[in-house]
Amino acid sequence: MHAFPGGAPSLDFAGTLRYRHRADPREDMDSPKSLSVWFRESGIAEREIPCKAADLQEALVLREAVYQLIVARMSERAYDRDALALVNDYARKPTPVPQLTSEGRRIEASVEQAFAAVARDTVSVLGGPEASLLKECGNPECSQVYIDRSRGARREWCAMDPCGNKIKAAAYRARKRVGEQAKTAFTRSRQSAKG
Ligand SMILES: [Zn+2]
Repeated sequence: MHAFPGGAPSLDFAGTLRYRHRADPREDMDSPKSLSVWFRESGIAEREIPCKAADLQEALVLREAVYQLIVARMSERAYDRDALALVNDYARKPTPVPQLTSEGRRIEASVEQAFAAVARDTVSVLGGPEASLLKECGNPECSQVYIDRSRGARREWCAMDPCGNKIKAAAYRARKRVGEQAKTAFTRSRQSAKG
């Protein structure tokens, strides 16, 4: 249901408001259930933690603070003080607890612990050595930020589907159009040379 192209949970969490550069961004965090699903799919929780409407509201406030910090880090601007204080407050709280059972590892997580995990990931991504690898997707509408761990840092898209495919198809159409224009211009110039 959710997408995880960022290479870190905090980047994917910020990315749940998709296509921020469009006039009408797409909200993937549109219900308490979608937050529960996100916690499970991100691996922060093992099962869906039941979330209430108030948890969703809290999640959106945290998410926007995380996104502000990401953008500030990438553009080398100072962090917004409120956003920084909010994320640091969450990062101070207890995170999910891994427990060993006879069936293997089990992760115990409450909503608060899951938020703390997102905040700590934000701290480690933006304050860590990979912060210099942060990139925004090459699709002009897409605002997903990812860690470019590719060789030579040549990754251009958050994901090939849909962003890479969309931009490549547009580039192909543009090339074709230019090619056709060149052909028409050539035919015309030949005809006028004859005439
Ligand atoms: Zn993208």
